[in-house]
Amino acid sequence: MTVRNGDTKARQHPRGAEQRHGFDEIHVLWISEGMSCDGDTISMTAAGQPSIEDIVLGLVPGLPKVNLYNKVLSPAMGGEDFLAPFRAAARGDLEPFILVIEGSIPNQNIIQGEGYWTSFGNDPETGKPLTLNWWLDRLAPRAWAVVAAGTCATYGGIHAMAGNPTGSMGLADYLGWDYRSQGGLPIVNVPGCPIQPENFMETLTWVLYHAAGSAPPPPLDHMLRPQWLFGKTVHEGCDRAAYYEQADFAKDYNSPKCQVKVGCWGPVVNCNVPKRGWMSGVGGCPNVGGICIGCTMPGFPDAFMPFMDEPTGATLSSALIRPYGAVIRRLRGITNMAVNREPRWRHAKSELTSGYDAHWRPREKTSESEEARA
Ligand code: SF4
Ligand code: SF4
Repeated sequence: MTVRNGDTKARQHPRGAEQRHGFDEIHVLWISEGMSCDGDTISMTAAGQPSIEDIVLGLVPGLPKVNLYNKVLSPAMGGEDFLAPFRAAARGDLEPFILVIEGSIPNQNIIQGEGYWTSFGNDPETGKPLTLNWWLDRLAPRAWAVVAAGTCATYGGIHAMAGNPTGSMGLADYLGWDYRSQGGLPIVNVPGCPIQPENFMETLTWVLYHAAGSAPPPPLDHMLRPQWLFGKTVHEGCDRAAYYEQADFAKDYNSPKCQVKVGCWGPVVNCNVPKRGWMSGVGGCPNVGGICIGCTMPGFPDAFMPFMDEPTGATLSSALIRPYGAVIRRLRGITNMAVNREPRWRHAKSELTSGYDAHWRPREKTSESEEARA
């Protein structure tokens, strides 16, 4: 909001969520009953900037009060106590809420006769399991925002690989890529198998600031990923990239060199893990010796298997770089030896050999009269 302050214009921050047209309180309904291993929930608890505790305890300034409902982190002992907010939201009695989905969405339509790929609670009237699809059909149209946590929920992931019997898919494949939430947002995809802890918490925080009315919607790319997190490749943030440039390739997994010839897909994968580390900057993938298997990518895992074979494109690119890299490496080796010596004038002899020239030194002042005579 711009206001007049004397002759100058000054920016004045709106004080309350009401003034910002945002929410003071919001619910986060997290369902991990997709085809899932709960790895994204577990991974999220490792975040420190911010931590999930910071969010739910209201320690991050400017965010709405957050009520988190996640089965792993729930203070409720499960059963109906835990399901109550989900049932209320499905009836339209609980809002606003952010729906977080973990795990891929199985295809119920391919089931012949009765049966369920996955379920979340039972129907109180019939006693039969309520499928994830049932919940999605009721909650997605009412959600203020929908966030997909992990590659399974975003693009289908491992459960949706060739040969799977469940017909699994990502959330956007199920709801439609043009889905818009009550808050006007597309699905916010945070891929990763699992999610990098802070990638997820940073995205959730942005969505919460948007809910508070104090931030624009998070910028997403064509695959609905946060641009600032997935806009660069693994290779662009890998600290082994200098080995690649010098055509110095690892021949086995114990080497500190570039791993492209032993299976690393980093040059073509959108992910920031090597740059960011896993927890507090520690860990990662190719930066610490594990090939990048493209776990954040829509084509994962099929497009990257078998993981430990050299990627097809790497054969050509590494062959092209070999002559240049070998020459540059040698030249740098020579220069490196040269700059690894101290200059010869650094010694303890009685003679100064640094090349110091005192001709510029001003004459010492004696007195004003001597100065005047001079
Ligand atoms: S290890 Fe992988 S990501 Fe790192 S420089 Fe080599 S190819 Fe690129
Ligand atoms: S570096 Fe590769 S394997 Fe590691 S998290 Fe990123 S995409 Fe997945």
